[in-house]
Order: sequence, then structure tokens, then C-alpha cells
Amino acid sequence: MSNMSLLYELQNSYNNVEENKKIIKDGAHLYLLRKMKVEFGECKNKYNEKVKIINALKDDYAETSRELKEFRDKIDKDEFALYNNSSNDMKSINALQKSIKNNKAKHKIVEDSAIEHLEKEEKLNIDIENLKTELINVKNNFYSYKKDTSEKIENAKIKLEIANKNIEKLQKLIPENYLKAFYSKYEHKKNVVVKLTNGICEGCKMKVSAMTLDEATKKDNILYCDNCGRILIYEDIKKIKTTKKAK
Ligand SMILES: [Zn+2]
Repeated sequence: MSNMSLLYELQNSYNNVEENKKIIKDGAHLYLLRKMKVEFGECKNKYNEKVKIINALKDDYAETSRELKEFRDKIDKDEFALYNNSSNDMKSINALQKSIKNNKAKHKIVEDSAIEHLEKEEKLNIDIENLKTELINVKNNFYSYKKDTSEKIENAKIKLEIANKNIEKLQKLIPENYLKAFYSKYEHKKNVVVKLTNGICEGCKMKVSAMTLDEATKKDNILYCDNCGRILIYEDIKKIKTTKKAK
């Protein structure tokens, strides 16, 4: 591997370091996780509230049932007395009939409210079921997102370690003068070594002058972009020169 290729690899390793550091530092996932936690809490509160209401309704309904039974018993008792009445005492017959009518009216009112109760309970049950599904979904999303991001971060940590080790290895392989050229530039900008493609510097997207290209062919020198000063890596300088001349 040529020194220039090693230098390019050094640049790529630094790029990897930067990229993975950014992933590790990125707080966006924490923000989202916190938001999901709040969403879960709100959903749970709503759920608990509905459960509380439905339990109160059930207590109410037990009371209503008791009332219904009480009226039913009174009516039955009066009806039994009425049909088994051997005397023709009109006064007591009238009193019984009046009592039956009265209790039937009361029974009807309580029964209507019982039906209303049941309808409310049914609606609440549907709401509770929906909230339960929502809670499960939010919870699952939370855990799968948490797993994904922690995997992503773990992955970035591994890649960062590899890149740092690679840098250490390259620093031992690359000759001093090349390293010096690299680090004197790296102090000022992060992207120091770029490719020269069709005579164009990939760093600044400008065409490198013919004079610079001539310089590169003469000596085994490090080639710098005469516009931005980046170190240029190229495959075959003679080939670049020929295509340049042909144009
Ligand atoms: Zn340039």
C-alpha cells in the first residue's frame, strides 16, 4: 500500500471517529424516550380514571339491583294478598291496588336508570379496552426504540474503538514527513485528504491547475490542491494528464 493510500486511510479513520462520536453524543433518542414515557404516563392515568368510574358504577348498580328487588318483593306481596283476599273489603282492595300501582311506577323509574347504567358501563368497557391496547402499544414502542438505539450506540462505540486503533496502527506505518503534512492541515480542518477525480479536487470541487499536476509527476511529492490546500490522492497522475491534454 502506498504512503498516499495510507494517508487516505488515516483520513477515513478520523472521519469514522467523528461520525461515531456524533452518534454516541446524539441526545435525540433520549428526548424521544422521555416523550414516550410521558405519553405512557398520560395514557395510564386515563385508564386508571376510567377503571375508577366503572367501579363506582358497579357499586351504584349493586344498590340499584337491591332497590329493584325490594320493589319487586313489595309488588309480589301485594299481588299475593290481592288474589288471596277472600273478603270483599273494597277499602283494603283499593289500598292494595294503589300500592301495587305505586310500586310498579317506582320500579319502572329505577329500571330505566339501571338500563342507562348498563349502557354507560358498556361504553366505559370499550374505552378501557382501547386504552389497554394503546398502553401495550406505547410500551412496546418504547422498548423496541430503546433496544434499537442502544444497539446503534453500542455499534458506534465498537466502530469508534476500531477507528482509534486503526489510527494508532497507521501512525506507525506512515513516514514522518507524510504524518507532519497531514497533522499540520488537520489542526485547521477535519477533511484534509481528498480524492482527485478527473482533475477536480473533491474537497473544494475546483479544477487543479496544470502546473500543480506537472509538479506531481516530476517528483514523488505530496500533491496539494492549489485552491484549498488539501492533500490530494490520485490513482495515476499520468492518466490524469493524458485525459487533460486530450480535452
Ligand atoms: Zn481543493
